[in-house]
Amino acid sequence: MVDAVALPGLDRLHNLVHSVRTPEFAGITFHEVLAKSALNKVPKAAGLPFNWTVNPYRGCSHGCVYCFARNTHTYLDLDAGDDFDRQIIVKINVGDVLARELRRPSWSHESVALGTNTDPYQRAEGRYRLMPGVIAALTGSGTPFSILTKGTTARRDLPLLTVASKAVPVSMGVSIALIDERIHTALEPGTPTPRARLDLVRAIVQAGLPCQVLVAPILPMITDSDGQIDALLGLIADAGATGATVFALHLRPGAREWFMQYLGKHHPELIDSYAKLYQNGSYVTRSYAADLARRSSVLLRKHGLDRKESMLRIPDTSTAAVPPHLALNEPSLF
Ligand code: SF4
Repeated sequence: MVDAVALPGLDRLHNLVHSVRTPEFAGITFHEVLAKSALNKVPKAAGLPFNWTVNPYRGCSHGCVYCFARNTHTYLDLDAGDDFDRQIIVKINVGDVLARELRRPSWSHESVALGTNTDPYQRAEGRYRLMPGVIAALTGSGTPFSILTKGTTARRDLPLLTVASKAVPVSMGVSIALIDERIHTALEPGTPTPRARLDLVRAIVQAGLPCQVLVAPILPMITDSDGQIDALLGLIADAGATGATVFALHLRPGAREWFMQYLGKHHPELIDSYAKLYQNGSYVTRSYAADLARRSSVLLRKHGLDRKESMLRIPDTSTAAVPPHLALNEPSLF
């Protein structure tokens, strides 16, 4: 482990402990910080189905091209592209700070969402092991929580999560947008394969926890045919998922630039069609969204994945008044 050269903007980070690189994480720099706070209040105007979030990491080495959280990295001179994937802020004291915040008499014990901005089980979690402390703090304070992830590192904590679920409601969600390995490699280069994530779903269910799958983003004209969605939902149902939610790609600033580069390289013939489909800005046209909702609801029903009772409350943020990358910003961190 060596001290890495800090980026210029990080000089303004008063709570930076040090920046490190290790051979196991080639190309990635971890900036370890002492966070002042762990709980983030989501503004009501965001219209999201949760009021509180915790994000142990900022930036995400999963590196999904379409990630809507990319713009949250454009602070301290970090960019929304490579820096988001490779310059990871690690809140090394997040468990202790969270436990302290949850002990306050004023704490409302509302549900806390993890994985709504960056992935708490990204590769860094194998090194830093922050989630056991977070889970212990939430469980010990009687706070319900949900976790959404693409990270198979979550398997490590399933025994802990199973115990936690005896004390508080725990909702697990796994993101699986597509099954095609070729598209996966180009679009989600740092994530476990879709098959590995199906195995994660299986492991979560076998551990006795309900598991919702987020089938998003659906890529118009690339992964949105009835046949593709049907096949993916079939695999998700086979893995034992409790339910699934399907929605289309959002192209907010910060993600749009990177996704359009991908499109230019892999599907240049679709550039004009995407320009029309996203003519209103970040979201697909209403007619496309309505057609996808109609087709996917039929297929969700077919595979028994339309059960609502134990679903993780994953937002379709297409209706959010404030984009999550603003809603989930963390001004209190520094
Ligand atoms: S796993 Fe989630 S947070 Fe991480 S890059 Fe992919 S979409 Fe973004």
